[in-house]
Amino acid sequence: MSAGLHRFFVPPGLLGGPRIALTGEQAHQISRVLRLKVGDRLVLLDGSGHEYRVRLSEVRSSAVAGDVDDVRVSRPEPRLHLTLYQALVLRDRFETVLQKGTEVGISRFVPVWCERSVVLRGDQIDAKRLERWRRIVTEAAEQCERGQVPEILPPVRFTEALMQAAAGPALLAWERERERSLQAGLRAVLVQRPTERDDRNTESIGLLVGPEGGFSSIEVAAARDAGVITVSLGPRILRTETAGPVLAALALYEAGDMVPFVHQLADSAAPERA
Ligand code: SAH
Repeated sequence: MSAGLHRFFVPPGLLGGPRIALTGEQAHQISRVLRLKVGDRLVLLDGSGHEYRVRLSEVRSSAVAGDVDDVRVSRPEPRLHLTLYQALVLRDRFETVLQKGTEVGISRFVPVWCERSVVLRGDQIDAKRLERWRRIVTEAAEQCERGQVPEILPPVRFTEALMQAAAGPALLAWERERERSLQAGLRAVLVQRPTERDDRNTESIGLLVGPEGGFSSIEVAAARDAGVITVSLGPRILRTETAGPVLAALALYEAGDMVPFVHQLADSAAPERA
């Protein structure tokens, strides 16, 4: 059983052989923080779609080694790739979006400076902040047993975000939308019906969520002009950090991605049990 084993994403290229070695922060984490011992097991991932169950053979604070017991196919990434264009908001709220959005299944986050992203004026989004965000999504992906870490792109201004989003199908959550529900918006942009589900055929959509004070009317008009569809998430106003994860969950549900998964050994040709 894999339940309860600690999981770590490691740099690509480290896995593949029968033995693995880790150093640096991960060795420290395993030996000192988690206090794992020789003989204990853990799971290593490199985002390649496989995960490696490893039994520790050597544990020191500076270096940890182990032998690969088995290799399994990771839980699949959603067939519907979601890019969340999330307005920059108060620090804790933004981090909540990253964590919950990773659990739900967002593939990529793009932080967006909006007209009303006032709270971060003077608050720099530097390399250190991006690094912290990447650690948050990595830890969330490890915790939720995802096989890949979502991407986080550097922050962009709203007009740039709009250009990126409008290059493909995109929905903007607008609390004052009076006509189109999220479901209607999704049905307008999703090409494949859930019954045609095929993991090889991926689709991508962009989702835009505004800051605490909402999108300005200029931003909403610009989005519509660019071909982005404005949608309502229902009659209640959600907080910005609730809106993104809820929007993502409903999009994945509508696309038929919220289905169970059964672990498979990588080498086994046995079909998944129903
Ligand atoms: N202060 C604004 C609400 C902003 S809510 C007001 O009261 O008018 C923050 C963001 O969450 C919004 O910009 C929007 O993208 C999203 N959102 C929240 N509730 C929503 C709803 N019912 N429908 C669509 N989007 C919503």
